[in-house]
Amino acid sequence: SVDSLLYAKFSANTYFGNHFFGAKVLFSIFSPLQVLLVFAKEDSQSNGFCWACEKANYRCSLAHTPESALECFSEKHHDLVIVDHRHSRHFDAEALCRPDREEASVMPLINAGFNRRYVENANMMACYNELLQLEHGEVRAQFKLRACNAIFTALEQSQDAIEITSEDQVIQYVNPAYEAIMGYQQGELLGKEIIEVPKSEKNKPDLLETINTCIRKGKEWQGIYYAKKKNGDNIQQNVKITPVIGQGGCFSSPDIQSSKHKDRRKGSLDVRSTTSRGSDGSSQRRHSSMARIHSMTIEAPITKVINIINAAQESSPMPVAEALDRVLEILRTTELYSPQLGTKDEDPHTNDLVGGLMTDGLRRLSGNEYILSTKQPHHLPSHLATPLSLNDIPPRIAQTMETEGSWDFDIFNLEAATMKRPLTYLGLKIFSKFGVCEFLNCPEATLRSWLQVIEANYHSSNSYHNSTHAADVLHATAYFLCKERVKQSLDPIDEVAALIAATVHDVDHPGRTNSFLCNAGSELAILYNDTAVLESHHAALAFQLTTRDDKCNIFKYIERNEYRTLRQAVIDMVLATEMTKHFEHVNKFVNSINKPLAALEENGESVKSILTSPENRILVKRMLIKCADISNPCRPLELCIEWAGRISEEYFAQTDEEKRQGLPVVMPVFDRHTCSIPKSQISFIDYFITDMFDAWDAFADLPNLMQHLDNNFKYWKGLDERKLHSLRPPPE
Ligand code: 5GP
Ligand code: MN
Repeated sequence: SVDSLLYAKFSANTYFGNHFFGAKVLFSIFSPLQVLLVFAKEDSQSNGFCWACEKANYRCSLAHTPESALECFSEKHHDLVIVDHRHSRHFDAEALCRPDREEASVMPLINAGFNRRYVENANMMACYNELLQLEHGEVRAQFKLRACNAIFTALEQSQDAIEITSEDQVIQYVNPAYEAIMGYQQGELLGKEIIEVPKSEKNKPDLLETINTCIRKGKEWQGIYYAKKKNGDNIQQNVKITPVIGQGGCFSSPDIQSSKHKDRRKGSLDVRSTTSRGSDGSSQRRHSSMARIHSMTIEAPITKVINIINAAQESSPMPVAEALDRVLEILRTTELYSPQLGTKDEDPHTNDLVGGLMTDGLRRLSGNEYILSTKQPHHLPSHLATPLSLNDIPPRIAQTMETEGSWDFDIFNLEAATMKRPLTYLGLKIFSKFGVCEFLNCPEATLRSWLQVIEANYHSSNSYHNSTHAADVLHATAYFLCKERVKQSLDPIDEVAALIAATVHDVDHPGRTNSFLCNAGSELAILYNDTAVLESHHAALAFQLTTRDDKCNIFKYIERNEYRTLRQAVIDMVLATEMTKHFEHVNKFVNSINKPLAALEENGESVKSILTSPENRILVKRMLIKCADISNPCRPLELCIEWAGRISEEYFAQTDEEKRQGLPVVMPVFDRHTCSIPKSQISFIDYFITDMFDAWDAFADLPNLMQHLDNNFKYWKGLDERKLHSLRPPPE
């Protein structure tokens, strides 16, 4: 509609000489964007914009004279008009945009103004960027304006009487229905304080006080109210008064929730909607008119949930409504899945772990530059390039892997036997056991090369995040995949994805945490915007390494669609190992899978549909790789101790470096001179492991893991009770 057009004024500012032209922006709601170029002559600049329009999928028209421009505009109502302002001899660009130009019919209608000038630059990408900026910058604001206009139009048409006041109760607006019902004209009311308007004596004396108290708390008030019409008649009304919070007197839909925002009530407005009809039918109607307002914005599920609760509150007794208020407060926070730690009195180990593993960019310090070595990814190491098939695996190595099917399998033996290349060998064995080459339709030589390339990109210099950890996670993954429940829920493609994800999930790990990389301003942190930095890198690099060379491209022989599905599943699983989302993944798993399964089993119904729905399969896969990733505390004691030593050493090395470089120390308890390893393990198990493995055990049935976990926990407790800080008790 014409009244909501936005106009970017421009003036003949000679600040930068003459090499300017102005853009005036008139956005409409329709897509694709319509662009009008007003250029006396076609030249490289107008061509630049034409090409840019094409690239951006906008419709573009070109006019050579002001007259044809106006004609063209009145026909198409372009969203964006660009006027050449470089050569005054052709036409007066300013005059074209001046509101007083008589025949320029659009100009007087346009008054919201800002300036936008574009320095002559015919480069197509420059034009393209300019157009995109215009669209994404102004069009958003324009939508808001348009929505506002639509809402006011709706208010004007509403049959409910609606009144808007400022925070200090000065009347700002009444709609025509209000005028009709109450017998006032707008002009008699605007600018007056509500108390100046005659009140009915029929209300309880303390009603106004009650209402004001409620509104001041930011809460909505609804109830029966007697109003006095201008002619002195009293009418009974079902009234709803809603405080509206927003900047600069913004006005939101009338049922906005606004409790606990007293401090931000500057510029707030109260919206009163009343109706003269009986409270029964009309209240229903009011809801439907609200629903219309709502349907103008795209509703996120959380918005729907909040709306449902709001609606339930309306008909609930006070204690329930108040309880729901608290529910809403929680729902509105973003960190729905992270337990909140009482900051001070909490155990420092837990605090540090949570700080270290659950945050990334939050503690960033600026100004510190830490550049990770920018070495090229490893290619096939030459000494391993010699062909080798499963049959060629040296007997000593094959023997070490014989117990691979057992949870108690000793990965450190394999690490020693393979000279720190356990991933390639264990990978060959496990992938073959699961028929991965058959599934991918790829030669075993390709798989071998792939495993070697991936393994070569793990840092053997890391004490924990090296290829032995990857092999360990692959082992746990394969073990879990053999569990009955897991087999029931996953497809072959899920299994293949899980094995691949486990293999690559920490590739090129620098032995430092996400927090460290963010604090240090590392290249990776910058590349991934301080968000899931490492996990994004592991996933991205894995695919780069795989697809860059046919020789190791295990995906080369599957169909595009299958590849897309597989790739998506691998990425999702690798990203799920990010610890900031730990509680989200565990909670979703419990709520969507464990709880419904438990409910079904009581009734003895089928579980198949729960297990195999696509959403739930994703949750199972995430939980599977997460549990595999941090399953160390569930391994036999000796292995658990070794892993604890390795992770501690890696954390110590990070703390050492943080101190050396003057970076913030992310996890101060992991100081090699003072750290109690038993305490850190107890915290890790308490905070991250116990609940997760309880849930995973309930699903997959893993009594031996739970036994080890219990045993290991007691071991660390025992050391801690003796006030020992080390991995093992000193020799007697
Ligand atoms: P990953 O980086 O291995 O994919 O994700 C697992 C996270 O849990 C890692 O950040 C690792 O530091 C942490 N983690 C794994 N095992 C232990 C442990 O035994 N103790 C502690 N404190 N952290 C661990
Ligand atoms: Mn890992």
